Amino acid sequence: MPEENSQPCRICGSPTFRKWRSSLSQPPNSASFAITDFNYGRISALYQCGTCGFRQCHDLSDVLSFYRSQVDPAYEDSRKQRTLQAQALLNRLGQFKRKGRLLDVGAGSGILVEAARKKGFQAHGVEPSRWLQRRAEKRGLPVRAVLLEHTKSEPEWDAITLVDVIEHVENPLGMLKEMEKRLTGDGVALITTPDVKSFLARLLGRKWWHYRVAHIGYFDASTLELACQKAGLRIVHQSRPDWYFTIEYLWVRIMQYFPSWLRFQPCRPMRRWTVKINLRDSLLAVVQKKEGASASR
Ligand SMILES: [Zn+2]
Repeated sequence: MPEENSQPCRICGSPTFRKWRSSLSQPPNSASFAITDFNYGRISALYQCGTCGFRQCHDLSDVLSFYRSQVDPAYEDSRKQRTLQAQALLNRLGQFKRKGRLLDVGAGSGILVEAARKKGFQAHGVEPSRWLQRRAEKRGLPVRAVLLEHTKSEPEWDAITLVDVIEHVENPLGMLKEMEKRLTGDGVALITTPDVKSFLARLLGRKWWHYRVAHIGYFDASTLELACQKAGLRIVHQSRPDWYFTIEYLWVRIMQYFPSWLRFQPCRPMRRWTVKINLRDSLLAVVQKKEGASASR
């Protein structure tokens, strides 16, 4: 199908696209952008860059307004599991940086900020949703309701974390560049994002759980590396992150793949159990400034 897109690729700047998929029949609203939304496969038109292969949505304007007005009580219900996940990511980061000033971008209600402070970082966060930012504030966590580009553009952070954020933003390359400016010379950043070329993404096709309205950019290992390079960053570590969920959280989502007559509930005592899972369909990259010194350990 010929492309119908007039904007350049958000990573490589190429104007050549193929329309990849469209399935959204109604306009999205703020609930579609909730972190815990599970309307998988319900996406706006996606275009695949003919040069670098980056898959992106150009049809949603002002995505940020959805995040600013976001209210997501279900997110707080999974605080325990998200804390375990934050600790695992910080352990990975700890192989490169164990202390100093850390900024979590898209900090939500401050879960990673809280875990990082317990590990000894001077951790802060930025978060567009007022509702989530207030949850952090109530816990006494230093999360501000601003965007990364509105913070001081000085190299003052020893570590920056972007956990499942770059797939949500209209200008992921711009965000990586802003991040690079704010990293100290030997600072490190940790990035996670779904991998559109993973085995599960290919197997599940349009029903892959990461095909969601809120995800407007789909990376794979090569487009992530290209974006990092263009932002003046180099990847010093790559792996697949572990995630932690309750049985109930997983169950509700897995059941989306079954016809309604086959859906059933797990027994009540099991629902709150936490499981660690690695579906190998997300990317984790630790990056440094290209010009920076080697990682301090
Ligand atoms: Zn491209």
